[in-house]
Amino acid sequence: MSGCHCPNCGSKKVVSRMVNDRLWAADPRGSAFEIPLRVLVWSCTACKLCWQGEEAVAAREVAYQKALGRQPQGRSAANVD
Ligand SMILES: [Zn+2]
Repeated sequence: MSGCHCPNCGSKKVVSRMVNDRLWAADPRGSAFEIPLRVLVWSCTACKLCWQGEEAVAAREVAYQKALGRQPQGRSAANVD
């Protein structure tokens, strides 16, 4: 991930880490269930901002599709481990 910088202060001193996250989905009968996943978050060492990038969005999409028993389409699976 080159060229990543803080969206708040513009610093290039950003670090990434994996955190446990979760999202909620509904099965075909309308029952909500929780999907645990790990997503990549960025944090800025200059201003301490934390944010999730497109990696996290992709990981959520993949986890959601997997939970519903579908194969993700149109994009390569994100490495969520
Ligand atoms: Zn910053």
